[in-house]
Amino acid sequence: MKQLPPAITVTRTVMPPLEEYVGYLTQVWASGHLTNNGPLVGQLENELGSFLDGAQVELTANGTVALQLAIRALDLTGEVITTPFSYVATTAAILWERCQPVFVDIEPHTFCLDATKLEAAITPRTQAILATHVYGYPCDVMAIEAIARRYGLKVIYDGAHAFGTRVHGRALLTYGDLTTCSFHATKLFHTGEGGALVTTDAALARKIWLLKSHGHMGDTYVLPGTNGKTSELNAAMGLCLLPRVPAFIAARAALHRLYRAELAGLPLRYPVLPADTEYNYAYFPVVLPDEETAVRLQVALATQGVGARRYFYPTLNALPYHIGAPCPMAEDIAGRVLCLPFYADLAAEQVGFIARIIVAFFQPSHPILSHDQPHTQPTIACA
Ligand SMILES: *Cc1c(COP(=O)(O)O)cnc(C)c1O
Repeated sequence: MKQLPPAITVTRTVMPPLEEYVGYLTQVWASGHLTNNGPLVGQLENELGSFLDGAQVELTANGTVALQLAIRALDLTGEVITTPFSYVATTAAILWERCQPVFVDIEPHTFCLDATKLEAAITPRTQAILATHVYGYPCDVMAIEAIARRYGLKVIYDGAHAFGTRVHGRALLTYGDLTTCSFHATKLFHTGEGGALVTTDAALARKIWLLKSHGHMGDTYVLPGTNGKTSELNAAMGLCLLPRVPAFIAARAALHRLYRAELAGLPLRYPVLPADTEYNYAYFPVVLPDEETAVRLQVALATQGVGARRYFYPTLNALPYHIGAPCPMAEDIAGRVLCLPFYADLAAEQVGFIARIIVAFFQPSHPILSHDQPHTQPTIACA
């Protein structure tokens, strides 16, 4: 039987050395303190605050509850302008909190919400903007802030992809009234399951603390809360990984350059980094000439044991349980984007292997395919 090449998944969870994690566990066992804002959660919140230029950080159970807490903390009840091109949690959190998502299309370079289309979507019921920094590329934070000021709107960013990106010399997660983050195991930096709210407003941070801690401090009951806390076991993972984030980003940057070099000359499009941005290299998306080609390439990669994900697909304005207005740009990109395998310890040889499959896909005379499929594939024009 023919031996299949080892499977390369689209992402792989980065793990710290086990001894280091066990070192933190030894502290947890000694204290007997597993949750309810224990010392490791406090330590990680402080270290994340330093990493994020002195912002207030409230750790949460995951990135989805962080989105819900953000909507609660800002007392939103009406329309929330949001992006159709994000993970489903962005829209689901708005619906879960009984607000009305209003979709504004994305712009073609960063795939983030198009700030030039914002004003046309504002109504008397609009209370906030919730936009995602897609793949770690920044929204136009300056333009969004200017419009929000003019119309008295709150700004929440879904920063689940944005940990480590810097814009205009500042951590991207510090923009807006609140930014939510996911520290799920598949993200660049993680705590197994987990997330955070980031704000520069200390009063808002205290309110979030109360909301995630059942709304009470000892015997003083202040407001109806939920359990959005995280545990010492999750915080320990974050404490192990946080010092390694700069090395993860450097490794990802090198892999990004390698992919781009290996794929040069093919009819692929990439998002464009805005000026004055230090990128975190969270994902490696490629935009194919059309949907049919994207789906065929996904199959061609899968045949060779390589996972590529249609991420994000479908667009959130087309969810079966909440249909929004058409968003042609987002629908176009979502139809033909693939995220290729990308994680800090992906080997250069694996990038080479994946790139050779893609080159062969576009050039059927390439040795990988030439002997069994001579010149059967159509020529694909550049987008
Ligand atoms: C991962 C992710 C979330 C959800 O975070 P969880 O920690 O999995 O709940 C929300 N938005 C975006 C853009 C994400 O990528």
